[in-house]
Amino acid sequence: MHARTQRLSRYLLPVMKETPAGAEIVSHQLMLRAGLIRQTAAGIYAWLPLGLRVLDRIAAIVRREQDRAGAIEMLMPTIQPADLWRESGRYDAYGPEMLRIADRHGREMLYGPTNEEMVTAIFRDCVKSYRDLPRTLYHIQWKFRDEIRPRFGVMRGREFLMKDAYSFDMDMEGARASYDAMFIAYLRTFAALGLRAVPVKAPSGPIGGDLSHEFHILADTGESELFYDSALDAVDLADPAAPERLRALYAMEAEEHARVADCPVPAERLARRRGIEVGHIFFFGTKYTAAMGMQVQARDGQMVTPLCGSYGIGVSRLVGAIIEASHDPAGIIWPDSVAPFDVGLVNLRPDDAATDAACAALEARLAAAGLSVLHDDRDARPGEKFATMDLIGLPWAVTVGPKGLAAGTVELKRRATGEKAELSPESALARLAG
Ligand code: ATP
Ligand code: MG
Repeated sequence: MHARTQRLSRYLLPVMKETPAGAEIVSHQLMLRAGLIRQTAAGIYAWLPLGLRVLDRIAAIVRREQDRAGAIEMLMPTIQPADLWRESGRYDAYGPEMLRIADRHGREMLYGPTNEEMVTAIFRDCVKSYRDLPRTLYHIQWKFRDEIRPRFGVMRGREFLMKDAYSFDMDMEGARASYDAMFIAYLRTFAALGLRAVPVKAPSGPIGGDLSHEFHILADTGESELFYDSALDAVDLADPAAPERLRALYAMEAEEHARVADCPVPAERLARRRGIEVGHIFFFGTKYTAAMGMQVQARDGQMVTPLCGSYGIGVSRLVGAIIEASHDPAGIIWPDSVAPFDVGLVNLRPDDAATDAACAALEARLAAAGLSVLHDDRDARPGEKFATMDLIGLPWAVTVGPKGLAAGTVELKRRATGEKAELSPESALARLAG
């Protein structure tokens, strides 16, 4: 979907050397410095070309795991009629976080902060029989919440990209199965993003029972304070029993933890860390289906009010969360799975015909091998090029210059470890494509 190769001399990558004023946490600083985003109003950002590539790769992984879990993709609009929210009673309850708009006819509209009402209205109209359930639908769509204190860049924006899924089931057994499928999908999603997520039991109101979890990435800059059984840290996520093990282990937000009279975890095993909430799954039963009058005919002819859950992932927040979890003093270190380009190709002498030709050949062959390449062909000093590559954090850098070429080599560098090797272009290609 994105161009496989780009040349920096014709790209838009406004990197900054200095830490921008007003950016408090490292991910926000690095997102601005590496030219991923630009703020256009408080809590509202434009995604520049490099940032959009990351956002789209994260969305693709989220989508893949939703599909694998059996959820079906759709797309609901950002703008919703206020009347829909009057049906559930949330129009007045939601408060000033909701951006309320009037159209030219004076009809009350809003920019959706979430989609329970809309998806329930669609289901109410389309689904009449038990044969059409269970279903889980999802979309990846922009949301607007007029947060009282937007901060930390895309972490707490006002406009942000969310994956939200909604499950509809005939009975509690089905609802639990839908929930469990999402729980597993979330663990797989965060693992594929190169993240270790801790599922934290969340308060779920009177009907939720134990079916509410937030997923947190551990980071000192996280807004939540967590208490959890440190045995969680040792769970092997590749183990098929991992979801069950994780669910059985104690993990709570500080506020909830304070209410627990008898913490089952011995003090020496209780870890206390900060976390970034990147996802939330939540069973709420008939809350919207009952309020909005959705009924489905069961096999025995009875009319049943379906049981529902909703399942959010902060897709744009994840860009910041991944950087919080993976950076060093020189810049971002993208996990391979979400990097905006697989390889940075550093041309040390774009004015030298032989170097230029070698770079063009490498660019083409890397692309032919299925790798995406950002080719720094700018007329700039080597030091500046290396600093840019480290800052933007592509997994691999291949550096090509006249000296190396005379000796038949290029330099291959792994961003995460700093390891460098002098190799023939052939071997470098084989290493990268392998
Ligand atoms: P928070 O407690 O951080 O405000 P929330 O409980 O309001 O989150 P949900 O309504 O469950 O969040 O939304 C699902 C996901 O969307 C969250 O887990 C989070 O990753 C993301 N999210 C929520 N609000 C924002 C925001 N203002 N900016 C970016 N992402 C957000
Ligand atoms: Mg919120």
